[in-house]
This record gives sequence, C-alpha cells and structure tokens, in this order.
Amino acid sequence: MILSVRVRFAPSPTGPLHIGGARSALFNWLFARRNGGQFIVRIEDTDVERSSRESEQNILDSLKWLGLDWDEGVEVGGENGPYRQMERLDIYRRYARQLLDSGKAYYCYCTEEELAREREELLAKGEMPRYMGRCRSLSREEREKLEREGRRPVLRFKVPGDKTVTVKDMVRGEVDFDCSGIGDFIIMKSEGIPTYNFAVVVDDHLMNITHVIRAEEHLSNTPRQILVYDALGWEVPVFAHVSLILGKDRSKMSKRHGATSIEQYKSMGYLPEALVNFLALLGWSPGGEEEVFSIEELKKLFSLDRVSKSPAVFDMEKLNWLNGIYIRQGSIEDITKICLPYLQKAGYVPADPAPEDIEHAQRIVAVTRDYLINASEIVDHVDIFYADSVKLEDEKAREVIAQEQVPQVMRALKEKLYAAGTLEEDVVKKMLKELTKELGFGGKKVYMPLRVALTGKTHGPELYQIIPILGIEGTVKRLNAVLEGRLQ
Ligand code: GLU
Repeated sequence: MILSVRVRFAPSPTGPLHIGGARSALFNWLFARRNGGQFIVRIEDTDVERSSRESEQNILDSLKWLGLDWDEGVEVGGENGPYRQMERLDIYRRYARQLLDSGKAYYCYCTEEELAREREELLAKGEMPRYMGRCRSLSREEREKLEREGRRPVLRFKVPGDKTVTVKDMVRGEVDFDCSGIGDFIIMKSEGIPTYNFAVVVDDHLMNITHVIRAEEHLSNTPRQILVYDALGWEVPVFAHVSLILGKDRSKMSKRHGATSIEQYKSMGYLPEALVNFLALLGWSPGGEEEVFSIEELKKLFSLDRVSKSPAVFDMEKLNWLNGIYIRQGSIEDITKICLPYLQKAGYVPADPAPEDIEHAQRIVAVTRDYLINASEIVDHVDIFYADSVKLEDEKAREVIAQEQVPQVMRALKEKLYAAGTLEEDVVKKMLKELTKELGFGGKKVYMPLRVALTGKTHGPELYQIIPILGIEGTVKRLNAVLEGRLQ
C-alpha cells in the first residue's frame, strides 16, 4: 500500500540542466506537490570521468531558479542520505555481495577484446549483441588462475534466460521484454563502482520511492532494474516514462532547435514562470484550450494519466508567446529587475543605480514591455529614451520629417509643453488632442512627425507614453533639433 507519494529527480551531473531533465524534474515535483508527497533530489555521479561538481551546482541552481524545491536530497539533507551515489559505495557493495552470495550475480573476467570479439560474432550471425555468460560457471580454480593473470573482475547479474519481464507503465501501459535479448549485465565495475541499473534500484528502494517518473529513453533499462528488484526481494515502484522531446521537424531535440540548457534561457531573459508553463505542456495537458497556467495552478491540475504517449514537440514560438504573456503580466518592479542587467550591460543604467535610475527604468519598461519576447530584447527598444540625440531610422522617417507642416507642429507642441505643469499620460493625451484640433491638419500629419522627431522611427510606443518619460526638457531638445535642421 502506498502511504505517501515519494518521487525523485536523479540527474547525472555531466553537464548543465537541459530542457528534458528540467521537464522530468518538473513532472516529479508537480506529482509530489499535487499528492502531498515528497520530492527528492539525488545525484547519480558514478560516471566519474564525466561528472563534476560544477555541473551538479548548475543543475541545482537551475532547479531553484525554476522554483522547484525539494524535501530531501543534496543540500537539504534527510534521513536517507547520503544523496550522492559516490558517497554510497559501501551500500551498493553490501547488496552486490548479497546477490553474489545467493548465486544471482557472478564475477566476470572477460577482457575488452574478448567482449568485442563476442559482439562481432553475434552480429555476424545476425543476433543481438549481448553477453552470453562465458564466466557464469567458472570454478574457484579457474577464477584464481584468471586473477593470477592480473585480471580484475566485474560483477554481472545473472539474467534468467527464459523469462518475460513486464514493465507496468502509467503512460505506456504494459510493455513486455524477453529476457533472452538482455544478456547478463554488469552491476559492479572493477573499481567497485556500481552501474546505473544497479545503483538506481538500490537507491530507489532504500529511499522508499513510490513512483519513478523519467524520460522514455530509460524504458529499455527498466526490465533490468525490475530483475534486480526481484532478485533482492523488493517491491517494484510504479513507473511512468514520459515521451521524448522532438524539434519541430520531428527529429530529436538538439542544439539545432534552439538553446537546450535552462541557464541559456535564463541568460536570454526568459522568465521562470514561462519556462515552467512551457515545460509542463511538453507531454502533458489538462485538456481543453487553455495553455497559460501558473505554477500554483499546475500544482492543482497535474496528473500522470494526462501525460501523453506520443512525443512532445518543442515549439519555440509557443515559448516566446508564453514568455511575452508573463512579461506583460508581471509587476513592473519584477520585470524591471529582470531587464536591469541587460540595460546595465548596454551602458544605459549605471552598475550601481540610484533610486531615480531604477524609477526611470521602470517607466521605460512599462511602455516597452509589450514589444518584448524576452527581457534581453529590452535594449533594442530603449535607445529612444536613453540616447542624447535621435537619428532618422530610414527613408520613411526622412520623408515624414521633410513634410512642410513639420516646423509648425514642432513649435506648437513646444508652446503647449511650456504651458503644461506636469506631464502625466492623461495630460499629454489631452494636450495632443487639442494640438491636432488647433492645427487642423488631421491626426496623421501631427502624430507621425512628432513620433519621428522624438524617436527617429515611424513605429513604437504611444506619444503620450514617450513624452512623460522624456520630460519637458528632453522633448524640447528633440523638437529643437528638428527646427534647427540637426535631425538627420
Ligand atoms: N541519472 C539518470 C539520468 O540522468 C537518471 C535516470 C532515472 O531517473 O532513473 O538520466
């Protein structure tokens, strides 16, 4: 009986956290939160050459940035630690010994060359390459002889040849694997380090994991793991293998389809809320048309029976669309905070900004965020506010500013500005309406030249948004540039 849901994310720290890993972590986290269970983060670092503490830190930082916390595991500790596999070697050795003593595992002394030869022979016969059990029944004398030759053994699991293992999967249903195609697999390498398929079982069992939610690419490992559970007399957890993530062209997601690591999205100015929303929809949907979900809503809605069997498609446009929504939805303070590093890097805002710099930036973010897909793009929209002078962007702008009524429009606005006390958006809106009425040219002949005079461009935020930010002085300076023929 399942008392309480316990799930885990068990990354190998061989690189930064990728979209696929983040999706697995999120599904586990949502499942735990939805069911009042526990989420554990454990590090699978037995690939000593490729694992690093930097990668581990990157993965943990990315999880935290996404807003995923864990109840047990690295950094936070817990009753079932340690939570790094390389710190648990004595545990694996103990269970390996148990399998050895009960005749369910055996020492294998085959060399790389011998294994390669076996592989070739099987391939030549058109058979699936696998270990055929040459060392299964070595006598003690034979073993001692091989050891005297200096060979170091690995430990192999004895796969019962005549069995079918059925993986009961919450996403895929029942999947049968014939053991005759599996071959005796290694559980302990000669350095006394366990292999993934063995360590994962020991850890999932000792950590009381109830549900294993992971990527589909592990499905073929699962029968091996079930054999280990059976051999040790342990209960098998519930499995859920979530689909592969494909690019829009239906090939496996790779760098070609866009950034693959979470840190890259962070540095491009994507919001964690948008990524979480996007990742949740990679293979899951609550049904219906709605696609915008906060993390709080996802926590209430997520269920494994709505995880799809078919591959998920990574659609960058959808991520951009979601990110735009969260950029417009967030508080101005929060969105400015996210935009600030980009403004600082571009030299628009000092490294150590004063409160008025922040306030100014907030006003700019408020009128430009509608145009952003991600926060880094802010720098493409703010030159009109920060530049000392304006430049005509294109031929169209040049034509507009050459119209004959332009000097009159510039002067008229100057007068109105000097007469105005404050420059709130409402005040400016009213002012522009009056101006158009008084000049009598029609709106287009007033607004377009003013837009070009103030920004150099024929498109962008509304004039009533731009003028209050530039202030009387800044606006007049740009109007004068037109009147004095300096705007080019
Ligand atoms: N370390 C494995 C990986 O990163 C974990 C697989 C599992 O969840 O069992 O793919």
